[in-house]
Amino acid sequence: MRLVLVGPPGAGKGTQAEFIAAHLSVPKISTGDIFRSNVTQGTPLGVEAKRYMDAGELVPDEVTINMVRDRLAEPDASEGFLLDGFPRTTPQAAALDKLLADLGTALDLVLELVVDDDEVIRRLSGRRTCRGCGKIWHVEFDATTRPGVCDRCGAELFQRDDDKPETIATRLREYSEKTAPLVDYYGAQGKLVGIDATGPVEDVTTRAIDALR
Ligand code: ADP
Ligand code: ADP
Ligand code: ADP
Repeated sequence: MRLVLVGPPGAGKGTQAEFIAAHLSVPKISTGDIFRSNVTQGTPLGVEAKRYMDAGELVPDEVTINMVRDRLAEPDASEGFLLDGFPRTTPQAAALDKLLADLGTALDLVLELVVDDDEVIRRLSGRRTCRGCGKIWHVEFDATTRPGVCDRCGAELFQRDDDKPETIATRLREYSEKTAPLVDYYGAQGKLVGIDATGPVEDVTTRAIDALR
C-alpha cells in the first residue's frame, strides 16, 4: 500500500506512522527524520535544511523532492510505503504524483489526522524524542519511569530545537498557508480520508487502521 499521512505539526503523524507502517509491513519514510539525520551528520543537505528548520519554515520544494525521489528509489519502497511529513506543498504533491506515474503506480490513500490548534500546541510543547531509538514521548501524556530517560531503550530524551513557542507559531502558519491546501488537492482525487486524531494513541491507531479498509 502507498500511503501519505497529513496533518499539522504535532498531530501525531510520527507516533501513528510507526504503528501503521508496522501493521502494513511497509517502510515509514519521514522527511523530518531524514532532514534531522542529515543535520546531525553535517551533510551539505543538512547544512542547507537546518536554516529553514530552525526558523520553522519549510525546506525548498526542489531540495525536498529530490531527496524523496532518491528515497523512493530504494528497493524497500518498491511494494509500498508510508510517507510521514511529505508532501507538504501542492508542488510536492504534484511531483509525487508524477514520480509514481512514471513508475506505473499511484498513491492508494491519504490519511488526514485532524486535531485543533490548542491540542497541537500542547502536544508540541511537551514533545520529547529519544536519542537512541527515536521513540516519541510526551512529558505529560506518557511520562517515562525515570524523567528524561527512554523506557524502551534507556537512552536520553531531548526536546527538538523547533518545538520552542516562537518556532511553533511559524510552523502552524506554514501549515495553514502551504500544507492545508493538500486536503482539497487529495479530496479532489477522491483519496482523502480524515480521522479524529484526539484521544488515546491506541484509539487513534484503531481509527487509522479502520480507515485503510
Ligand atoms: P513535525 O513532526 O512537527 O510535523 P517534521 O519532523 O515532519 O515536523 O519536520 C520538521 C521540519 O523539517 C519542518 O518544519 C521543515 O522545516 C522540514 N520538513 C520536513 N518535511 C518537509 C517537507 N515535506 N517539505 C519541506 N520541509 C520539510
Ligand atoms: P532510476 O533512477 O534508475 O530510473 P528509479 O528511480 O525509477 O530508478 O527506481 C528504480 C526502481 O525502484 C524502479 O524500477 C522500481 O522498481 C523501484 N521503485 C522505486 N520507487 C518505487 C515506487 N514508489 N513504486 C514502485 N516501484 C518503485
Ligand atoms: P507529528 O509527527 O505530527 O509532529 P508526533 O507524533 O511527534 O506528531 O506527536 C507530537 C507530540 O504529541 C508527541 O509528544 C507525542 O507523544 C504526542 N502525542 C501523539 N499522539 C498523541 C495522542 N493521541 N494523545 C496525546 N499526545 C499525543
